[in-house]
Amino acid sequence: MSNRILIVEDEENIRSFINVNLSISGYEVLEASTGEEALSICEREKLDLIVLDIMLPGIDGYKTCENIRKKYPSIAIIMLTAKNQDMDKIVGLELGADDYMVKPFNPTELVYRIRAILRRTGKGIKKEEEEILINGEISLDKRSQKIYKLDNELKLTIKEFQLMKLFMQNPDKAFTRDELLDLIWGIEFYGDIKTVDVHIRRLREKVEDDPSNPKYIETIWGYGYRLKRC
Ligand code: CA
Repeated sequence: MSNRILIVEDEENIRSFINVNLSISGYEVLEASTGEEALSICEREKLDLIVLDIMLPGIDGYKTCENIRKKYPSIAIIMLTAKNQDMDKIVGLELGADDYMVKPFNPTELVYRIRAILRRTGKGIKKEEEEILINGEISLDKRSQKIYKLDNELKLTIKEFQLMKLFMQNPDKAFTRDELLDLIWGIEFYGDIKTVDVHIRRLREKVEDDPSNPKYIETIWGYGYRLKRC
């Protein structure tokens, strides 16, 4: 069981950007686009943490934070704010938020802060350390961040590792090349989708018994790639 995180943000591209980054890191992610929606999700779902934007249509992030705090004190909250917003209010954490981040932010830092909060609240440690993903002969040890084929550790570059981790966490899910570019290289990267093909080819050379006849990483013609569940 992974920790469950709700993202509350009305801007869809930011929401899904956060979602993919948290999903890659092994969290189960839910999304809401308004404070009202967030509150109703809190009522029916068990959550560990909420990433809450301040600028929302309807009830804003401040008010939403207060309401959640009152009703669900055990859920951790990280507020998202733009630079010009009411920093004092958040920095003082008067509203009961556990942390805040100023937009635009580095997703890696958000993950780091989430991990720190979950550890502090005693929710994150065990589940995280126990996780080993297995698919056929391939296994990913999330604690050591290593990937093995049977007993042999695969020597992957960072990007190859990130690709493989994304695949291992989403077996059978097809990704377009554009999605992979966004997820692994980031939305700031304006590279060619051929970058993806090159990395997949190198990854296959390390992962597959026969790279020209791949058993794990499947090409979906006219679409992209997926890792077959073996
Ligand atoms: Ca917003």
